[in-house]
Amino acid sequence: MIPDEIIREIRERAVILEVISDYVVLKKSGVNYLGLCPFHSEKTPSFNVNTAKGIYHCFGCGVGGDAISFVMRMEGLSFPDAVKFLARKVGVVIPERAVPASEKRLRDERECLYEVHEIAAKFYEDLLRGGVPGAACRNYLEKRGVDEETSRLYGLGYAPDSWDALTRFLERKKFPLAEAEKVGLVRSRERGGYYDGFRNRLLFPIRDTHGRVIGFGGRVLDDSLPKYLNSPESPVYHKSEVLFGLGMAKQAMREKGEAFIVEGYFDHLALYRAGVRNVVATCGTALTAAHLKLLRRFAGKAYLLFDADKAGKKATVRSMEIFLQENFPARVVQMPAGEDPDSYLEKYGSNAFEGLVSAAVPVFEFFFRDLCSQEDIGSVEGKVKVLEELAPRLRKIPDAVERDLYLREVARFLGIEENDVRRKMGKEEPSHAPVRAPKERRKASAGAEEMLLSLMGKYPEVVRLVAEFGPAQIFRTEVLPVVESIIQHVAEKKRIDWSQLLDSVASSEERSRLAALFISEEHLEEMDVSKAFDQCRRTLDRIALQQIKELGLKLAQSDPESDSYHDLLRRIDSLRAKKSLLT
Ligand SMILES: [Zn+2]
Repeated sequence: MIPDEIIREIRERAVILEVISDYVVLKKSGVNYLGLCPFHSEKTPSFNVNTAKGIYHCFGCGVGGDAISFVMRMEGLSFPDAVKFLARKVGVVIPERAVPASEKRLRDERECLYEVHEIAAKFYEDLLRGGVPGAACRNYLEKRGVDEETSRLYGLGYAPDSWDALTRFLERKKFPLAEAEKVGLVRSRERGGYYDGFRNRLLFPIRDTHGRVIGFGGRVLDDSLPKYLNSPESPVYHKSEVLFGLGMAKQAMREKGEAFIVEGYFDHLALYRAGVRNVVATCGTALTAAHLKLLRRFAGKAYLLFDADKAGKKATVRSMEIFLQENFPARVVQMPAGEDPDSYLEKYGSNAFEGLVSAAVPVFEFFFRDLCSQEDIGSVEGKVKVLEELAPRLRKIPDAVERDLYLREVARFLGIEENDVRRKMGKEEPSHAPVRAPKERRKASAGAEEMLLSLMGKYPEVVRLVAEFGPAQIFRTEVLPVVESIIQHVAEKKRIDWSQLLDSVASSEERSRLAALFISEEHLEEMDVSKAFDQCRRTLDRIALQQIKELGLKLAQSDPESDSYHDLLRRIDSLRAKKSLLT
């Protein structure tokens, strides 16, 4: 935990303009600074920075927040890591808290494991670069079309055909070999002593999100087996949570909002060289929910690019289930039989590849089509088989609308009743969604509410008016904490820390909306504020009255025993409470 006062100090010192200028070219425009949004691709700038309030907002994609949230999004960091990142930048020292001995040991151990990877990576890379032993590996890379520049970019290395090259090197460095054994770089002999874990292999360093080497993937130079040997799981390497090449792909994924997922190291290399920079690879493991959580920090959509063989298809289907569960949109890029991305690009080039990508189909559709091509769907037996395979997967789609769309598609394609598909899927949970006000109403009231909020952001008089009138009578519950915090700051004549204010809002959607409100002020210039306040308040009053009428009608038609009846009653009561205060 970082102490609150330190976070406050970092907030004060981290000038948002400087922080964002490291990534975005900003130009002064009115009270704000304007630039091209780094989170979505655009040609005309809609990314605003308000230096006085220390917040940013993009009117194109809707993201917004303060310096800390900017760094979190940009660097893909957690809140504490973003605070530390900014602390280094502005020269605030975060005091080391007294760590319990056990935890300190754990941390020291991890540092030690990072260090040995760093040493080994350098050792292997040097061996690949020069000297006689690396020649075979250099030849192999040349044969596969990997030039030196690419090789350096990935930090490729060569583990020589020796039982103790790394072991002796670590010994000379006085590095404890027992530590190196924990990460599989060396192994212990039965009769004492150690020997190298990787021998005569081309090595791909695997890095974490901070760029630290945490493991290696090693490929043989000929046809011997196993073809690939990866570092074992260790305190620093959990393969279900690591994606190869993520560090190189971060920026491109953010710009495009999309990620390509491939299986192998060489596939990664092939795409990257072909100019597809937003690509990551699973390291010899199935795609997991943790992988998607990591990806979600940079991209909202994925393209799966697995081999066209049986194993690749199986991997695609398994990944589909994760994508469906995690509600992560994904498409399958279909490779011609016998090709993998590397061989395909080599043979057909990147233009043809782009064609494949634009023809990619959603994962579920891919699965469904593939299934139908394997069974005789003209027969009852075939239909039943397809349904049996599909139903459990359909159930995994968390979004009801999406699930229903697929369900209809399946029914149509198989020529059966939608209800038959539903029955096959089993009973659905009844939804308990609360009765919602019609959308249009929400919009009208949101307009007045937003106006009032942005007025509060600019004019302390409006804040006082709201305080006098009673904020609970005006605003929705969701925004009340923010409103009350503004009132308190103004009452105590304190400067409002807008970024902290935004951080206190739990929902990121609401946070972005508020940032948008507070950031643009031009339309609020030279206004009769008490008149504006009155207008907003009256609009909100009128809407409340109208709502009471409508809810009353609904109430009359509802079953008094039902949950929705009580929900309606509760809402009418709270609206009446407001009405009694109307003048
Ligand atoms: Zn944007």
